Amino acid sequence: MSIIDIHTHAFPDKISKRAMSHLESMTEDWAAVGQGTVRDLLKFMDNTAVDVSAICGIATKPGQWSGILDWLLGVMGKHRERIVPFASVHPQDENIGDALMQIKDAGIYGIKLHPMHQDFIADADEVMEIYQQAAWCRLAVQIHSGRDIGFPNDAIPDRASPKRIANVLDRVDGLRILCTHMGGWRSWDEVEECLVGRDVYMETSFALGHMDDEQFLRIVKNHTPDRVCFGSDWPWNDPGTELAKLESLGLSAGDLEKIKFSSSAAFLELSG
Ligand SMILES: [Zn+2]
Repeated sequence: MSIIDIHTHAFPDKISKRAMSHLESMTEDWAAVGQGTVRDLLKFMDNTAVDVSAICGIATKPGQWSGILDWLLGVMGKHRERIVPFASVHPQDENIGDALMQIKDAGIYGIKLHPMHQDFIADADEVMEIYQQAAWCRLAVQIHSGRDIGFPNDAIPDRASPKRIANVLDRVDGLRILCTHMGGWRSWDEVEECLVGRDVYMETSFALGHMDDEQFLRIVKNHTPDRVCFGSDWPWNDPGTELAKLESLGLSAGDLEKIKFSSSAAFLELSG
């Protein structure tokens, strides 16, 4: 059976050490399991039978998007069978529409947004253009959802809340969007109120072991496994450990297949 890990991060070799030690310094609650390089990610994938991983870039400052795109295209060129890159734009970039068109024309499937690292509020008027343009040029959007373990004292704790993401769905037609961490990290009651049953994908990282198995299974059932994707958030978790947790829950073989592969293939609109 093929397995897609829809949520990982990696950095260019030159900056991976610096990037990882910066990110690790943001929280004492969690340590990375991987080094944050593509080579190391491929090693974890080989060890755990993950066929394809989505690497998410995040532009933390305006002006970074084209450098990130170039790097991701290089990675994709070398590892076309195994890596699906998510590019990034920063909400304060100029000409976001043009950037998204260039990303789409380069053959990229989607973009990653991170309200904490990019300092925006998920449903703010200023960022609607990003969702609208992404929907218009058929780029998938993966958005960090809920709280973030690296921002325990965020001044706007609900900036990526399930409720705000539901507002985005109300305002933007035709958006293909995936919410990380089962719809919103540590906001799972709100996920059940606002997002379950909506036209949105969710992924599993930082959910199993962080929420009750019972609630996880209820969300999968009510949202349907067709909209739930396996994700590890490597280098913060080992995809093998995350897969083992998922497989221990008593889900049917059919539901597991959807979560491990088909839902992500549908989200990415992979043909074949
Ligand atoms: Zn992420």
